[in-house]
Amino acid sequence: MRILPALAALASLLALPVVLAAQDAELNATAARELAEADAAKPAATKPKPAKKVTKVIPARVLFGSAKTPSPLAARSIGFYAKGCLAGAVALPIDGPAWQAMRLSRNRNWGHPDLVALVEKLAVEAKTSDGWPGLLVGDISQPRGGPMLTGHASHQVGLDADIWFTPMPNRRLTEKEREELSATSMLGTEPASVNAEIWTEAHARLLKRAASYKQVERILVHPAIKKAVCASATAKEGDRGWLSKVRPYWGHHYHFHVRIACPKGSSNCEAQPSVGSEDGCGAELTRWLALVKTPPKPGPPGPERAPIALSQLPADCRAVLATGSDAPAPAPAKQAKPADKKAPVAK
Ligand SMILES: [Zn+2]
Repeated sequence: MRILPALAALASLLALPVVLAAQDAELNATAARELAEADAAKPAATKPKPAKKVTKVIPARVLFGSAKTPSPLAARSIGFYAKGCLAGAVALPIDGPAWQAMRLSRNRNWGHPDLVALVEKLAVEAKTSDGWPGLLVGDISQPRGGPMLTGHASHQVGLDADIWFTPMPNRRLTEKEREELSATSMLGTEPASVNAEIWTEAHARLLKRAASYKQVERILVHPAIKKAVCASATAKEGDRGWLSKVRPYWGHHYHFHVRIACPKGSSNCEAQPSVGSEDGCGAELTRWLALVKTPPKPGPPGPERAPIALSQLPADCRAVLATGSDAPAPAPAKQAKPADKKAPVAK
């Protein structure tokens, strides 16, 4: 019977490494858990830090969208049409001899003085020489240009203006009407054709007039409108060079978009490549018409793109924001809300 305890002792000896191994494993597991807990505890212990780090970069559109007045600097378009700002903007008067500004609540009737002068000239000359009743002018730029809270990738440097295809009525519109009046689409039931009841030769003449100015580099219109312009009697008279400036693009059937070149003195203004001298009524237009008939299917939504930050705009845009009494304060928390609230509704 003595054998049994001996065997038991032997057995326990043999088992010892197993027990030790098991204990090791448990210790290891405990250590790992503790390490994990310690890791998890770290952020908790330093919680205020990440909160500080997450200082949100205020999007440039909030800063520029909250500026109510232009910067009192020499007029200068800074940067690119879709990434820049505007110093020394002037306002297109809301009423003129041949125009009325629309959607006044948006406060986007500001532009580089050259562009504002051009819109006024177009309005007057189209009225006196082409019999166009007057322009309804949509968005130009914000008082200090820059990205906007709603709509438009471009219109940032005060060199772009949207002009309605709807002729100006023969009376002064009320402020309410300027907010609520709908523009007229030029499109017919077919996506690649204009409505023959609405589109007229007078529209083509207005576009020709706009394209006739040397400063005007591009006029964006819906492809169906480009097609109508190419086929118009207006296009058949004389030189067709102006047609090259009339560019087909998505949208742009309620209004056309006039873009002028970088003005003299705007040394940091980034020009666009020239459109060339081709009238654009051939292969390019055919391609666009096919595109609007069968628009490409949208792909899966990509990652959300971060809005443009002030640091991504030309450095001079900081001064544009900071100069003058109405300069948006750098402390952003107070800025963001009112600007968001007052954000004008996109078209
Ligand atoms: Zn536009």
